[in-house]
Parts: sequence; structure tokens; C-alpha cells
Amino acid sequence: MKILVINSGSSSIKYQLFEMLGQTALAGGSIERIGQKDSQATHWVYRDGEVRKHSRVLAVKDHRAGLKIVAQLLTDPEVGVIPHPSEVDAVGHRVVHGGENFSTTTLIGKDVRASIKKLIPLAPLHNPANLKGIEVAMEVFARARQVAVFDTAFHQTLPEEAFRYAIPGTLYRDNGIRVYGFHGTSHRYVARKTAEHLGRDLKKTRLITAHLGNGASITAVKDGKSVDTSMGFSPLAGLMMGTRCGDIDPSVIFYLHRSLGMTVDEIDALLNRQSGLQGVGGNSDLRDILKRAEAGEGDAQLALKMYAYRIKKYIGAYIAVLNRVDALVFTAGVGENSPYIRGKSCEGLEHLGIILDDGKNKTAPRGVSEIQADGSKIKVLVIPTNEELEIALQTEELIKSAPIN
Ligand code: ADP
Repeated sequence: MKILVINSGSSSIKYQLFEMLGQTALAGGSIERIGQKDSQATHWVYRDGEVRKHSRVLAVKDHRAGLKIVAQLLTDPEVGVIPHPSEVDAVGHRVVHGGENFSTTTLIGKDVRASIKKLIPLAPLHNPANLKGIEVAMEVFARARQVAVFDTAFHQTLPEEAFRYAIPGTLYRDNGIRVYGFHGTSHRYVARKTAEHLGRDLKKTRLITAHLGNGASITAVKDGKSVDTSMGFSPLAGLMMGTRCGDIDPSVIFYLHRSLGMTVDEIDALLNRQSGLQGVGGNSDLRDILKRAEAGEGDAQLALKMYAYRIKKYIGAYIAVLNRVDALVFTAGVGENSPYIRGKSCEGLEHLGIILDDGKNKTAPRGVSEIQADGSKIKVLVIPTNEELEIALQTEELIKSAPIN
């Protein structure tokens, strides 16, 4: 079975084609800067054990034109991997917001598209672009079954005391204001991988999963289910991120408006795009911050301390939520690659059952590894995430269980 995974953004389409037998990515790439004269198509193909990359700059008018280029690249005699678009059995779409309507992966029909559209006010930047991707994929890959995998779905198991905000109930009931949580595909993938690694049934496993990329979130997983997560109504809440502030007293927003005269749009941009590592340390990329901190720059050093401190606070909170924890899992760009952040986030947690082995932490090889010390009650793992593969796996699972009608 061949499954194409599509992540359609406001000005980009990212894709990967999988052969599910062996779970291999055959090809992938992205079309960026859609709508501009200098759009960039990057395509890679996995052949004879190596990855070959091709890129070109061209004008891509809109998402329809972009997805047609993807189909051409996938079927190209030189760089393609399939003879015809009809070889694609299913397309798995990443959809950011499924609200309360979607707690599982879903076959896309008219009703599902209408629901995704209805949820646009909750995800004004993402859902319209996701929907566009679905509509054009239905034309370009007409034979394939279309499946939606929601970023929020994994967190639909949060109990009400965790997902409600302490504001009047009508705002939840009539307006849907509550914690939704995001990065669900990644948290679910690493939870699954961790259970496999530990040789345990996921349904009997308790984990804290820390997805630390440009966006960052941390989730408490009890018996395989998400029971709390750091992002909230939007991806702005929780941990300190590349450019997002994470948790902040909402009064700061009133103050910025009333006393400093900032508009709501300006505050939105400030907290989403000019805060986090960028706002405190001057760079959004952790690698730059690490270099500048090493060179002795105070603001970069403070940014690192704040970033790790926030993670540590959430680890403590989620140990309290879960009571017994089998493993703490680090994933995504920072989680997989930064021994410094892993080390600082776990510092001083020995009384809560977490002790890192410094050597193992520093030399953790790529792939799944355990980095806790011998006496640590809670295992600490580094597990590379693979959201595209998780979308493909969930799509496959659904297609196999849902006969064509
Ligand atoms: P995205 O959320 O865009 O998918 P990623 O998961 O790729 O992000 O994570 C990006 C972050 O990972 C950046 O802050 C980057 O600096 C960090 N990162 C990547 N490689 C390393 C590394 N070797 N050491 C430290 N940080 C790294």
C-alpha cells in the first residue's frame, strides 16, 4: 500500500510518499513560498540506499498548481518513484484543529470537510490551508482515499478538570473555549515507540513526553492516553518556545493594550513571533543561543535557564498528575539533539525519581536511547519523532478497517 502524507500550510505543501510494506519513505519534499514568483520546489528520492535531492525555483500560483507539481515529481521518469498518481492508495492529511468533533483519524467526506471549515475560527491560520490541501488532493489524487489526522485528536482524552479553564462555563459550552492541545501526532508516535522499546503494553504505560522543536509541548500520558498537555486553546500556552512566550499572566495582555497602547494584532505578533528564545535571548534557534551563551552572552544564558526551568516545572507537575511514571521521553529538534537542555531540565529531580547519566546523555546516539543513571526510578529516553510516518500508519490502520462502500 502506498500512502502520501500531506502537510499543507498557508504558503507551503510538504509531502512524503510511503510504501507501507516495510514502512519506507520512498520520496518527499516541499513546495515553499506558494503564490510568489520565486517559489521553491525541493524533492528528495530514496534510491539504492541513498537520498538524492533536487531543487528548483519556479513560479507556483496556488496550492492546486503546487500539488500538481508534487504529482509530476512523484511520477517523473528521472526523479519519480511511481508510474502514475493513481498508484497512491490513500492520502493522509495533517489537520491542525479537530476541535471536539474529532478524537480519532477520520475518512474525509463532505461532512468532515464542512466540520473542518466550521473549526476555522479556532485555527484561523492552519485549518483553511489544511482544507485547501484536501480539496486539491481530491482532484490530483482522485483514486486515493483521503484521510484526516488531527493534531488535537490525541488530547481528546483529557479529563474535564484538565481541559477546562476557570472561566464561566458558557464560554466553554457555547464558544468552545477550553484546552485542546497540539502536537498530538508526535506525542502519540513517541508514546507508541516508547512502549515498544520498553516491551510494555502502551495501555499500561505512564509517560511524560516532551516534544521540543520550534514549537514545544509536554504531555502526561496515562495508560496510553493523554491526560494533560501544556499547550492549550492555542499552541501559545505552556513551555517557552522558539518565538512563543508560553505561559503568561493574561493581565500582561491588558497592560500592553491599555498602558502601552498596543493593538490586539500587535500583541498577538509579540507573543507568538517575537517572544520565547527570540525575545529573551535574541535568536529563535537554540543552536545560535547555545553558541552565544558559550561565548558568555548574558541574555542567551538567561534564555537557556528559563527554557529548561519551564520544562522542569512541567515534569514535576506531570509526575504529580501521573503518580507512577515509567519514562520521561525527549523528542523533536531540541529534545533529540541537545544534551544541555535535557540535562538542565532534569537537574535536581532525583527526589522525584529522575537521575540522568551525564555520559549517556552527552553521547546518546541517533535513534532510541536510554540516558538515565542506574539508580533512576524513572527511565529517561531520547526517541526521534516521525510525524509523517505516524500519519501514514494511522491512515493505513483506518483504510484497512474501513471497507470501500
Ligand atoms: P519544527 O518545530 O520546526 O519541526 P524541529 O523539531 O526541527 O522544529 O526543532 C527545531 C529546533 O531544534 C531549533 O531550535 C534547533 O536549534 C534545534 N536543534 C536542531 N538541532 C540541534 C542541535 N544539534 N543542538 C541543539 N539544538 C538543535
